[in-house]
Amino acid sequence: MSEYRTPYESYVYAYPHKTAYRPLRPRPALSELWAGEPKDALSLYLHIPFCEVRCGFCNLFTRIGAPDGLTTRYLDAMDRQATAVREALGDEGPVRFATTAFGGGTPTFLTAAELERLCDIAEQRMGADLRAVPLSVEASPATATADRLAVLAERGTTRLSLGVQSFVDGEARAAVRPQRRADVEAALARIRETRIPVLNIDLIYGIDGQTEHSWQHSLDAALAWKPEELYLYPLYVRPLTGLGRQSATPAAEWDEQRLRLYRQGRDHLLAHGYEQVSMRMFRRTDAPAVGADDYACQTDGMIGLGCGARSYTSSLHYSFDYAVDMREIRTIIDTYITTEDFARAEVGRQIDGDEGRRRHLLQSLLQAEGMDPGDYRDRFGSTPAEDFPAELASFAERGWLDEGTHRLRLSAEGLAHSDAVGPALFSPRVRAAMAAYELK
Ligand code: SF4
Repeated sequence: MSEYRTPYESYVYAYPHKTAYRPLRPRPALSELWAGEPKDALSLYLHIPFCEVRCGFCNLFTRIGAPDGLTTRYLDAMDRQATAVREALGDEGPVRFATTAFGGGTPTFLTAAELERLCDIAEQRMGADLRAVPLSVEASPATATADRLAVLAERGTTRLSLGVQSFVDGEARAAVRPQRRADVEAALARIRETRIPVLNIDLIYGIDGQTEHSWQHSLDAALAWKPEELYLYPLYVRPLTGLGRQSATPAAEWDEQRLRLYRQGRDHLLAHGYEQVSMRMFRRTDAPAVGADDYACQTDGMIGLGCGARSYTSSLHYSFDYAVDMREIRTIIDTYITTEDFARAEVGRQIDGDEGRRRHLLQSLLQAEGMDPGDYRDRFGSTPAEDFPAELASFAERGWLDEGTHRLRLSAEGLAHSDAVGPALFSPRVRAAMAAYELK
């Protein structure tokens, strides 16, 4: 039986991870990459790499603050990039965006007028019909101001995701995200007033000093707003982020704390009218059916704009350079805002047949509903059991697969161990590329 070091190996929100990307030489033309790809149900993602503070746990591609009109120059560059990308998509067949999202960083770091411009880029440059398709936007409590929310609601936002992390001020400080409960509550009230259909609240468990009691307090404070969605994130402490673990809590004890709080949170939400969509995502059972699922669709293409965003064709995932370190991120943003030629892909990774099958299995299995093996067979001509016998046997041995269904899906314990299941499905090649990547 292969070994799993920890239930918290890594959060697999996209496969392969950007640390497995490499500079593409020669740089392929986007028009060639997208020729022949289905383009009638694309996802559009606009990435804003600015935040007011850098949370201690965060390894996302973002910088603190934006001096000297940097946001204007960033939007100028995004406008140029959007023009080039839309041109590369061509007009031979229909080009349509089925889902849209503004992520970061903190998109609401932008002013209300800049958010208008961001929407204009999505609509006028890319042709996305923001009022007709789901539009998800991430916000922080301090930047979820009435004027910004009014713009977002008016332009068609269907889902507003607020990073709260904890309703206990001391815990927020411990996670290096200083904020006051009163400000968080005021932001939530403003969001509810705008009547954006789906409110998501992000919470974190595993913070130093967090107890069952204080976790319950945060869960109940969130539930008081009846959010349509709740994401419960285990805390990770990653290299080059601000949060050095000060406490001497042994790793095994911390794992145990996170598993315990996970189960508590899951059971509490299931008892309060929520269904589990994935390890992290819970949805109110009577919530309106708008907003994208916690589901990176395995087949549809994605267009990412901004220097932290990825794009996916069926055979290549690509982006710009990647970094976690603040100085490196600033350099990459500075390069982006002076770039004129956006017609080629810079950094990426080919997705061959094996990686495509892994990606499909991984992303389906990490959803609570799992997958229909028939869909997999229709797409790939084989079964997951034929393609990944060792991995699936190892999950089954641990009781991580639900044996009572024809679907291939994780058991409750399997879902609890999603962050071990995902990495176990990485290919040896991707694993080696990630290991060889020098984090910067
Ligand atoms: S967690 Fe969100 S708000 Fe905090 S630094 Fe990262 S991107 Fe910014």
